[in-house]
Order: sequence, then C-alpha cells, then structure tokens
Amino acid sequence: MKPRSRLWTEIDFDRDGKQVGALNLPHSVTRSAYGVVPIPLAVVKNGDGPTLLFMAGNHGDEYEGQVVLGELIRSLDPARIRGRVIILPAVNLPAAKAHMRVSPLDGLNLNRVFPGDPAGQPTEQLAFHISSILMPMADAFIDIHAGGSSLDYLPFVSFRLSGDADLDRRTLAAARATDAPRIVIWRNKEASGNSSDSALANRIVGLGGEWGGAGVVSPAGVELVTREVANLLGHFGLTTGEARSRHHPDAPLIEIRDSTYYVYAPHDGVFVPERDLGAEVKQGEVAGAVHTPEHPDRPPSLAHFKRDGLLVCKRAIGRVEAGDCLMHLATPYAGPALG
Ligand SMILES: [Zn+2]
Repeated sequence: MKPRSRLWTEIDFDRDGKQVGALNLPHSVTRSAYGVVPIPLAVVKNGDGPTLLFMAGNHGDEYEGQVVLGELIRSLDPARIRGRVIILPAVNLPAAKAHMRVSPLDGLNLNRVFPGDPAGQPTEQLAFHISSILMPMADAFIDIHAGGSSLDYLPFVSFRLSGDADLDRRTLAAARATDAPRIVIWRNKEASGNSSDSALANRIVGLGGEWGGAGVVSPAGVELVTREVANLLGHFGLTTGEARSRHHPDAPLIEIRDSTYYVYAPHDGVFVPERDLGAEVKQGEVAGAVHTPEHPDRPPSLAHFKRDGLLVCKRAIGRVEAGDCLMHLATPYAGPALG
C-alpha cells in the first residue's frame, strides 16, 4: 500500500462550484508546534469532464504564473466550464514569500525532489502529495516557470519525452495549443527529479515552460501565460466556443540537448555578456568575458560557445562564481518523430 501523504485540505475535489482554500503542509517548529503552511489551492468544477492541474511558484522567485493563476482563480466561472481545474498558484509558498528559488524551510529545490517522500523534509512531502495525490486526478499538468533570479529566458512552453508515442503526440498537441512563440523539448538529463518526470510517470500530459526571468515580472510573459491557460482550457474541452489565440501557428520546435550547449563561468568574477537572448551563435564565438575586479591586474578571461545554437537563456546577475551557468543554447529538434 502506498504511504499516506501528511498534507491535507478541506477542499472537496468532487464538489461542483468554486472552492478556494489551502493545501496544508504540517510544519512543527518552536514558534508553532502544531502549525501548517497553508499553500493556496483552488478547485473549480462543473460536472464530469477532464481535469487540468495548474501550478506556479514551484520556484518562488518566478512570478508570471503566480499572477496569472491568481487571476484565473478569481475569474473562472464554474458555470462556463465542463470538467475540473485544480490550481496551485504559489505551490512553494515559503519560497514565494521569500523571493527564493529553494524553500527556506529546508533549503530544498522542489523541482529536484520529485516524486518526493511522504516522510521526508517538508519540500519532499509536498512533492509527494503533488505526484501521488493530485497528478493521478489529472489528465494534464502544467507547471509554469520563469527562469528565476539568476537567469533570463526567451519565453517558451516545454516538455520532456515519455517514450510513449501516443502520450508524446498528445503532449506536443497541447504544447502547440498554448500558442507559445516556441516549443522546447528538454532532452538533457541534468535536472532530474523535476515535476515533469512525475507527470510522465503518471502517464499524463505534462507541460513546463519558461516565461521570463531575472526575478522580475515580464508583462509580455504575463500575457503569454494568460493565453496559454485560456488556450489549454479550450484545447482539453473545459471551455467551448471561446476564441483561441493563434499568434504563433508556426512556433519552432527546438530542443535542449546536453551540457555541451551550456556555457559555465571559468572562475569567480563579473560576467559581461557579448550576445543577447535570441542571438543565433556559432561554435567558438565569444559568449562573454569574466572580469575579476578583486584582481584588477588580471585581464578578463573569455567564455566561448562550444556549439551552434539559439541563445535562449542568459545569466541575469553580474557577479558569478566558477561553475555558474552563464548561457545556454537550443537547437532544432532532431529526436524521434512525434507524429
Ligand atoms: Zn523554475
């Protein structure tokens, strides 16, 4: 038998109408022996139909999704849908309140501990609840990201391949339906333990995406995520008759292959980028220079691209330490046919 989740909610997932409440994460500390972290949760339901699970604030310092999902909770009229929408607008609440990527409760990165552990640290317990209780209720899972404080991104919707041709085809169709300006398939293996892996393990459509970055709110990103959410409600049949946007009918399908498409800081210092987001770069070109203000007698060292590609991600903080990701590239999708 599956271990029981320690999180609980008073929301009834089978009840029609709109319920706004909390998913309570027990957290016993000196100032609050029997306290909980009340993670905001809303369920909007009308009759039978598909279930979509939307999540934002997985990384607390990524805001576009948090803003849009709050607006969705306020505006979604149960009478105008068929099916169920489960919304976690600030799922890593302690991190969201602290403008942090990782949880201040335990220092863990929620998006590296999936499928979680019901008896683990608070962040692991939360991941377990999402992967073992909420995802199995859903037909599709949408986790809205935005780079975080240290990175800035060209906006895109993204997913990972499951190896199940039918699921991959349905996921690509959902990605196209978002009307994102580009579609990324993550084919690198570095970030294991993320929410998308758990969606695939649950055999449901799992979409990610980066819609901004630098720890700020991009109005363009808010607009894109607003369109994504509305379009997915239509794509999965929860809403009918509402016009879906088609700004990017020819959104390119690109991939992020492996660490050779990443540029890392060679040593501590201050990074001066040479290229900007959206640039098409060539192998051997200079990505930027790392200066060492603490040793002004030393000339800056140059960081180079090891591959050709489209510059989709750039570091948003000047100061760097050896090994920090400075930039990474994407290239045209070259994996198995997706139907
Ligand atoms: Zn993120």
